[in-house]
Amino acid sequence: LLTVSHLNKNYGKKEVLHDINFSVDKGSVTVILGPSGSGKSTMIRCLNGLEDFHSGQIDFKGQVIQPGFKKWQPIRQNIGMVFQSYDLFPNRTVIDNILLGPLKVQKRSHEEALAQARQLLKEVQLTEYENVYPRQLSGGQKQRIAIVRALELNPEFILFDEVTASLDPEMVRGVLDVMLQLAQRKMTMIVVTHEMNFAKQIADNVIFLEDGKIIEKSVGRQFFDQPKTERAKEFLNSMD
Ligand code: ATP
Ligand code: MG
Repeated sequence: LLTVSHLNKNYGKKEVLHDINFSVDKGSVTVILGPSGSGKSTMIRCLNGLEDFHSGQIDFKGQVIQPGFKKWQPIRQNIGMVFQSYDLFPNRTVIDNILLGPLKVQKRSHEEALAQARQLLKEVQLTEYENVYPRQLSGGQKQRIAIVRALELNPEFILFDEVTASLDPEMVRGVLDVMLQLAQRKMTMIVVTHEMNFAKQIADNVIFLEDGKIIEKSVGRQFFDQPKTERAKEFLNSMD
Protein backbone atom coordinates (compact mmCIF):
# COMPACT_ATOMS: atom_id res chain seq x y z
CA LEU A 1 0.00 0.00 0.00
CA LEU A 2 2.76 2.40 1.01
CA THR A 3 6.51 2.29 0.49
CA VAL A 4 8.93 4.91 1.73
CA SER A 5 12.39 4.84 0.13
CA HIS A 6 15.52 6.73 1.09
CA LEU A 7 13.57 9.61 2.57
CA ASN A 8 15.63 12.49 3.98
CA LYS A 9 14.45 15.69 5.55
CA ASN A 10 16.27 18.69 7.00
CA TYR A 11 15.16 21.68 8.98
CA GLY A 12 17.68 24.25 7.88
CA LYS A 13 21.03 22.55 8.30
CA LYS A 14 19.74 20.02 10.76
CA GLU A 15 18.97 16.59 9.36
CA VAL A 16 15.85 15.29 11.10
CA LEU A 17 15.16 12.23 8.96
CA HIS A 18 17.96 10.18 7.47
CA ASP A 19 17.52 7.47 4.84
CA ILE A 20 14.13 6.25 6.02
CA ASN A 21 12.98 3.01 4.35
CA PHE A 22 9.91 0.98 5.19
CA SER A 23 6.71 -0.31 3.73
CA VAL A 24 3.24 -0.79 5.06
CA ASP A 25 0.96 -3.62 3.95
CA LYS A 26 -2.75 -3.19 3.60
CA GLY A 27 -4.52 -4.15 6.82
CA SER A 28 -1.43 -3.92 9.02
CA VAL A 29 -0.58 -1.81 12.04
CA THR A 30 2.85 -0.18 12.11
CA VAL A 31 3.89 1.27 15.45
CA ILE A 32 6.56 3.96 15.48
CA LEU A 33 8.53 4.24 18.70
CA GLY A 34 11.44 6.43 19.72
CA PRO A 35 12.56 9.09 22.15
CA SER A 36 11.28 12.65 22.07
CA GLY A 37 12.77 14.55 19.15
CA SER A 38 13.68 11.40 17.20
CA GLY A 39 11.56 12.45 14.22
CA LYS A 40 8.35 10.40 14.65
CA SER A 41 5.94 13.27 14.05
CA THR A 42 8.01 14.67 11.22
CA MET A 43 8.03 11.29 9.55
CA ILE A 44 4.30 10.77 9.63
CA ARG A 45 3.67 14.37 8.60
CA CYS A 46 5.74 13.68 5.49
CA LEU A 47 3.36 10.84 4.64
CA ASN A 48 0.39 13.11 4.05
CA GLY A 49 2.15 16.17 2.76
CA LEU A 50 2.04 18.29 5.91
CA GLU A 51 5.82 18.44 5.58
CA ASP A 52 7.89 18.35 2.43
CA PHE A 53 11.06 16.27 2.31
CA HIS A 54 14.38 16.77 0.56
CA SER A 55 15.15 13.50 -1.14
CA GLY A 56 13.78 10.03 -1.52
CA GLN A 57 10.25 9.05 -2.39
CA ILE A 58 6.96 7.74 -1.15
CA ASP A 59 4.94 5.30 -3.22
CA PHE A 60 1.28 5.25 -2.29
CA LYS A 61 -0.70 2.68 -4.28
CA GLY A 62 1.60 3.08 -7.25
CA GLN A 63 1.58 6.85 -7.15
CA VAL A 64 5.11 8.13 -6.73
CA ILE A 65 5.57 11.18 -4.53
CA GLN A 66 8.85 13.04 -4.71
CA PRO A 67 10.14 16.24 -3.10
CA GLY A 68 8.09 19.25 -4.12
CA PHE A 69 5.01 17.13 -4.89
CA LYS A 70 1.95 19.36 -5.12
CA LYS A 71 -1.08 17.16 -5.80
CA TRP A 72 -1.72 16.00 -2.24
CA GLN A 73 -5.40 16.83 -2.19
CA PRO A 74 -6.75 13.58 -3.75
CA ILE A 75 -4.22 11.48 -1.81
CA ARG A 76 -5.08 13.11 1.51
CA GLN A 77 -8.65 12.00 1.05
CA ASN A 78 -7.34 8.47 1.41
CA ILE A 79 -5.15 9.18 4.41
CA GLY A 80 -6.77 10.04 7.72
CA MET A 81 -4.82 11.68 10.49
CA VAL A 82 -5.48 12.12 14.19
CA PHE A 83 -3.14 14.30 16.26
CA GLN A 84 -2.26 14.71 19.89
CA SER A 85 -4.23 17.95 20.15
CA TYR A 86 -7.76 17.22 19.08
CA ASP A 87 -8.26 19.82 16.43
CA LEU A 88 -12.05 19.97 16.35
CA PHE A 89 -13.63 23.25 15.26
CA PRO A 90 -14.77 24.82 18.55
CA ASN A 91 -17.72 26.73 17.08
CA ARG A 92 -19.28 23.71 15.39
CA THR A 93 -21.21 20.88 16.94
CA VAL A 94 -19.87 17.34 17.00
CA ILE A 95 -21.99 16.27 14.05
CA ASP A 96 -21.02 19.36 12.02
CA ASN A 97 -17.36 18.67 12.72
CA ILE A 98 -17.80 15.14 11.41
CA LEU A 99 -19.85 16.09 8.34
CA LEU A 100 -17.75 18.99 7.13
CA GLY A 101 -15.28 16.88 5.13
CA PRO A 102 -17.77 14.45 3.55
CA LEU A 103 -20.15 17.22 2.48
CA LYS A 104 -17.75 20.02 1.49
CA VAL A 105 -14.80 18.05 0.16
CA GLN A 106 -16.23 14.71 -0.89
CA LYS A 107 -19.59 16.18 -2.02
CA ARG A 108 -21.52 13.29 -0.55
CA SER A 109 -25.23 13.42 0.16
CA HIS A 110 -26.23 14.69 3.58
CA GLU A 111 -28.44 11.70 4.22
CA GLU A 112 -25.79 9.12 3.46
CA ALA A 113 -23.00 10.96 5.32
CA LEU A 114 -25.23 11.48 8.35
CA ALA A 115 -26.17 7.81 8.46
CA GLN A 116 -22.51 6.82 8.46
CA ALA A 117 -21.65 9.43 11.10
CA ARG A 118 -24.39 8.11 13.40
CA GLN A 119 -23.18 4.56 12.96
CA LEU A 120 -19.62 5.61 13.83
CA LEU A 121 -20.77 7.63 16.86
CA LYS A 122 -22.56 4.54 18.07
CA GLU A 123 -19.42 2.48 17.69
CA VAL A 124 -17.44 4.88 19.88
CA GLN A 125 -20.34 5.15 22.33
CA LEU A 126 -20.97 8.84 21.79
CA THR A 127 -24.40 8.73 20.16
CA GLU A 128 -25.93 11.19 22.58
CA TYR A 129 -23.24 13.82 21.95
CA GLU A 130 -24.18 14.52 18.35
CA ASN A 131 -25.33 18.09 18.98
CA VAL A 132 -22.94 19.29 21.65
CA TYR A 133 -19.93 21.54 21.13
CA PRO A 134 -16.35 20.28 21.60
CA ARG A 135 -15.91 22.34 24.80
CA GLN A 136 -18.66 20.22 26.39
CA LEU A 137 -16.65 17.03 25.86
CA SER A 138 -13.86 15.47 27.89
CA GLY A 139 -10.45 15.03 26.27
CA GLY A 140 -11.09 11.33 25.67
CA GLN A 141 -14.45 12.05 24.09
CA LYS A 142 -12.95 14.74 21.86
CA GLN A 143 -10.29 12.33 20.72
CA ARG A 144 -12.88 9.66 19.88
CA ILE A 145 -14.76 12.28 17.85
CA ALA A 146 -11.53 13.16 16.05
CA ILE A 147 -11.17 9.47 15.17
CA VAL A 148 -14.77 9.32 13.95
CA ARG A 149 -14.15 12.39 11.84
CA ALA A 150 -11.17 10.69 10.21
CA LEU A 151 -13.09 7.42 9.67
CA GLU A 152 -16.07 9.18 8.15
CA LEU A 153 -13.92 10.00 5.11
CA ASN A 154 -13.39 6.27 4.50
CA PRO A 155 -9.61 6.58 4.27
CA GLU A 156 -7.41 3.69 3.17
CA PHE A 157 -5.19 4.26 6.11
CA ILE A 158 -4.95 6.41 9.19
CA LEU A 159 -1.99 8.08 10.87
CA PHE A 160 -2.19 8.48 14.64
CA ASP A 161 0.32 10.77 16.36
CA GLU A 162 0.31 10.29 20.14
CA VAL A 163 -3.45 10.59 20.31
CA THR A 164 -3.55 9.76 24.01
CA ALA A 165 -0.57 11.87 25.10
CA SER A 166 -2.57 14.81 26.43
CA LEU A 167 -5.34 12.78 28.04
CA ASP A 168 -5.96 12.15 31.72
CA PRO A 169 -5.07 8.54 32.52
CA GLU A 170 -8.69 7.48 32.95
CA MET A 171 -9.52 8.73 29.46
CA VAL A 172 -6.76 6.82 27.70
CA ARG A 173 -8.34 3.36 27.73
CA GLY A 174 -11.47 4.31 25.76
CA VAL A 175 -9.43 5.84 22.96
CA LEU A 176 -7.01 2.91 22.79
CA ASP A 177 -9.95 0.49 22.69
CA VAL A 178 -11.34 2.28 19.63
CA MET A 179 -7.96 1.90 17.93
CA LEU A 180 -7.76 -1.79 18.85
CA GLN A 181 -11.19 -2.32 17.31
CA LEU A 182 -10.01 -0.65 14.12
CA ALA A 183 -6.98 -2.92 14.01
CA GLN A 184 -9.19 -5.97 14.42
CA ARG A 185 -11.19 -4.79 11.45
CA LYS A 186 -7.97 -4.57 9.45
CA MET A 187 -7.80 -0.83 9.09
CA THR A 188 -4.30 0.04 7.91
CA MET A 189 -2.74 2.24 10.55
CA ILE A 190 0.53 3.92 11.45
CA VAL A 191 0.60 4.65 15.15
CA VAL A 192 3.03 6.80 17.13
CA THR A 193 2.55 6.08 20.81
CA HIS A 194 4.28 6.01 24.16
CA GLU A 195 1.82 3.45 25.54
CA MET A 196 4.03 0.37 25.51
CA ASN A 197 1.45 -2.25 26.49
CA PHE A 198 -0.88 -0.97 23.84
CA ALA A 199 1.95 -0.91 21.27
CA LYS A 200 2.77 -4.52 22.09
CA GLN A 201 -0.86 -5.51 21.69
CA ILE A 202 -1.53 -3.74 18.44
CA ALA A 203 1.73 -3.86 16.46
CA ASP A 204 2.18 -6.00 13.37
CA ASN A 205 5.41 -4.12 12.74
CA VAL A 206 7.54 -1.85 14.89
CA ILE A 207 9.87 0.89 13.70
CA PHE A 208 12.26 2.28 16.29
CA LEU A 209 13.63 5.72 15.46
CA GLU A 210 16.45 7.63 17.04
CA ASP A 211 18.03 10.86 15.81
CA GLY A 212 16.06 10.62 12.60
CA LYS A 213 17.30 7.14 11.74
CA ILE A 214 15.57 3.80 11.84
CA ILE A 215 17.60 1.84 14.39
CA GLU A 216 15.46 -1.25 14.42
CA LYS A 217 12.56 -2.70 12.45
CA SER A 218 10.80 -5.77 13.68
CA VAL A 219 7.71 -7.88 13.36
CA GLY A 220 5.00 -8.40 15.96
CA ARG A 221 6.09 -8.57 19.58
CA GLN A 222 9.70 -9.24 18.77
CA PHE A 223 10.74 -5.66 19.48
CA PHE A 224 9.38 -5.93 23.02
CA ASP A 225 10.40 -9.49 23.77
CA GLN A 226 13.78 -9.64 22.02
CA PRO A 227 15.03 -6.20 21.05
CA LYS A 228 18.01 -6.50 18.75
CA THR A 229 19.93 -3.36 19.68
CA GLU A 230 21.25 -1.97 22.94
CA ARG A 231 19.47 1.32 22.21
CA ALA A 232 16.14 -0.44 21.93
CA LYS A 233 16.77 -2.25 25.24
CA GLU A 234 17.61 1.01 26.96
CA PHE A 235 14.55 2.65 25.48
CA LEU A 236 12.27 -0.14 26.66
CA ASN A 237 13.77 -0.05 30.14
CA SER A 238 13.25 3.71 30.31
CA MET A 239 9.58 3.23 29.48
CA ASP A 240 8.80 0.81 32.32
P1 ATP B 1 8.06 13.81 20.40
O1 ATP B 1 8.08 12.41 20.93
O2 ATP B 1 8.54 14.78 21.43
O3 ATP B 1 6.75 14.19 19.78
P2 ATP B 1 9.16 13.41 17.74
O4 ATP B 1 9.87 12.11 17.65
O5 ATP B 1 7.78 13.47 17.21
O6 ATP B 1 9.20 13.88 19.26
P3 ATP B 1 9.71 15.53 15.87
O7 ATP B 1 8.64 16.45 16.32
O8 ATP B 1 9.50 14.82 14.60
O9 ATP B 1 10.07 14.48 17.02
O10 ATP B 1 11.05 16.37 15.79
C1 ATP B 1 12.24 15.85 15.23
C2 ATP B 1 13.32 16.90 15.26
O11 ATP B 1 12.98 17.95 14.36
C3 ATP B 1 13.53 17.57 16.60
O12 ATP B 1 14.91 17.74 16.79
C4 ATP B 1 12.84 18.89 16.47
O13 ATP B 1 13.47 19.85 17.26
C5 ATP B 1 12.99 19.20 15.00
N1 ATP B 1 11.85 19.98 14.48
C6 ATP B 1 10.56 19.60 14.46
N2 ATP B 1 9.78 20.53 13.87
C7 ATP B 1 10.62 21.54 13.51
C8 ATP B 1 10.44 22.80 12.86
N3 ATP B 1 9.24 23.19 12.44
N4 ATP B 1 11.53 23.56 12.66
C9 ATP B 1 12.75 23.15 13.05
N5 ATP B 1 13.00 21.99 13.66
C10 ATP B 1 11.96 21.19 13.90
MG1 MG C 1 5.92 13.99 18.03
